[in-house]
Amino acid sequence: MADAVGSECRTSVASDRLYEGRESSRASRMGGRPIQIVVTRDDHSFELDEDALSAVLLQDHVKDKNVVVVSVAGAFRKGKSFLLDFFLRYMVTQGSPDWMGSEDEPLEGFSWRGGSERDTTGILIWSEVFISDLPSGEKVAVILMDTQGAFDSESTVRDCATVFALSTMLSSVQIYNLLHNIQEDDLQHLQLFTEYGRLALEDVGHTPFQKLQFLVRDWCFPYEADYGTQGGEVILKRRLQVSDKQHPELQSLRKHIRSCFSDISCFLMPHPGLKVATNPDFDGKLSDIEPDFKKQLHKLVPMILASENLVVKEIAGQKVKAKELLQYFKSYLEIYKGDELPEPKSMLVATAEANNLAAVAAARETYTALMEGVCGGAKPYLSTAHLEAEHQRIKDKSLNQFITKRKMGGESFSESYKEKLDKELEDLYGQFRMHNESKNVFKAARTPAVFFATAVI
Ligand code: GDP
Ligand code: MG
Repeated sequence: MADAVGSECRTSVASDRLYEGRESSRASRMGGRPIQIVVTRDDHSFELDEDALSAVLLQDHVKDKNVVVVSVAGAFRKGKSFLLDFFLRYMVTQGSPDWMGSEDEPLEGFSWRGGSERDTTGILIWSEVFISDLPSGEKVAVILMDTQGAFDSESTVRDCATVFALSTMLSSVQIYNLLHNIQEDDLQHLQLFTEYGRLALEDVGHTPFQKLQFLVRDWCFPYEADYGTQGGEVILKRRLQVSDKQHPELQSLRKHIRSCFSDISCFLMPHPGLKVATNPDFDGKLSDIEPDFKKQLHKLVPMILASENLVVKEIAGQKVKAKELLQYFKSYLEIYKGDELPEPKSMLVATAEANNLAAVAAARETYTALMEGVCGGAKPYLSTAHLEAEHQRIKDKSLNQFITKRKMGGESFSESYKEKLDKELEDLYGQFRMHNESKNVFKAARTPAVFFATAVI
């Protein structure tokens, strides 16, 4: 069983092509498809497909909702996409008791298995955003995120670390998918965040990230720690334990991991059976999967996705809307443009930039909406002095909204964004003023048509 998953790399290219065809017809039946939004170029730089991401996040029924972002990260060929396709089943059926489907239904959605050549490093999201009701009645937008990476050479290790970092920063639930156990180097992947976490805590006093869910696949020691959450807790406790015998670096890593996430847990999954792990013709049907695996899947998936367990994405203690998430993607990708992994400091600056920009956008929206109410399309002409007074009142209100919104980076950092907002509001005012003037019948009276009308009277 040592590396059953790895052996799947040998799937033939021919069967892979066949699979591609099958996959697209299935995906269309599901009403969504995987969309690659972050791609690695040949020179190992990262590119955001902003159009593709905007098309998903800026849909009318999505853009103003708070988001829940569930991402699965971890090394290549460890069943991440396979698992996500069960998440999809749960979301598509809205968590109905038989969400797992019938015994003979092939598993569709994110591409799992396939030849190794086809997998490019990057981030994918499901094109359909699921709208769920929180117990409070609030409707939230649930986004499922898949990550891909291959730890097969020096340069790709950095690519994978980048994908892992982006996944952590952009998700509200980061599922860290591991094979067999939580190893020391799995914890070291979290190193970058521990420092970022410390800086973020200093800045806004908030744990920077939310849920970290370790998911151990092919757990082989159920007699030592049981499958599921309880056994997971035992292992997690053991792995995150700090002891004097450890090197000081290992001790501080452990101490800091806890301070970066508001919730850390671990779930132990059994082996899914040899058909899943080794049979090239396996198409994901439940009848080929070991009952133990399905039993744990029945516990794991609602634990993440049932409405009462959803975790809304927060940055600096503020809930994030779908349209704002777009800005975070843009700012974070900017810092991964260079050759080096970014410093935790620059991660912090990028976060501060994105949440200042989000606050600018929200204040601008407030200004536009209130001004529309005063002098928009169907409203009558207002005297210049009246309009000016309304502009001042609404502008003050919008600036105040920006100032009072909690942001990272401190006051002096925010100052330039406030100036930017001020300028944007003045520009908008210019447009409202012109529109208002066009309604001025006294000025229009100078035109011949109106002159004629006046003369007749
Ligand atoms: P990813 O690269 O991590 O997304 O892995 P995939 O989801 O594409 O799965 C890779 C292979 O692992 C597929 O052939 C699956 O059938 C198989 N697989 C899925 N889940 C598991 C698991 O829990 N254990 C093992 N051993 N294999 C799995
Ligand atoms: Mg995958």
